[in-house]
Amino acid sequence: MYYILDASAFIGGFEPKNSFNFTVSEITEEIRDIKSKIVFNEALKEGNLFIKEPDLKSIKNLELAISTSGDILRLSFPDKKLLSLAIDFKSSGKNVKVLTDDYSMQNVLKILNIPYESVLTEGINGVYNWKKTCEGCKREFPDNYEFDDCEVCGSEVFKRRIITKK
Ligand SMILES: [Zn+2]
Repeated sequence: MYYILDASAFIGGFEPKNSFNFTVSEITEEIRDIKSKIVFNEALKEGNLFIKEPDLKSIKNLELAISTSGDILRLSFPDKKLLSLAIDFKSSGKNVKVLTDDYSMQNVLKILNIPYESVLTEGINGVYNWKKTCEGCKREFPDNYEFDDCEVCGSEVFKRRIITKK
């Protein structure tokens, strides 16, 4: 089984123990609390976690596949990359499971017929927040920023998920 982890998997306390765990590079920015960061970096160092980029074609295919689902609007670029990675694995015949607590992700995974599992269990208080962030220069904007494009570099502004432990 190949596991694909989003930030919530680390925030929820999942610790990769074998070498079949994958994520995408953007996740490093979503993990903000120290404990999860340590687990994440240790797993990378010990070879229990790999950062892998999906095939760009898969991202296009994903967007096509879910274009009629409202969830596409709620997915960030890193979310789409994670889902695309899952599609890559599945289409190369691997058994894959996505670990995520994000409902939009789970909905899309249902549509794609890819198994998933929640990580956050009762007793762990994960606090979800959103921050409007430029995809290009990574500048962050206040919630009331009203444009879809970055005023500095013109790239797309998306809502980045930030999760912290209480
Ligand atoms: Zn920008």
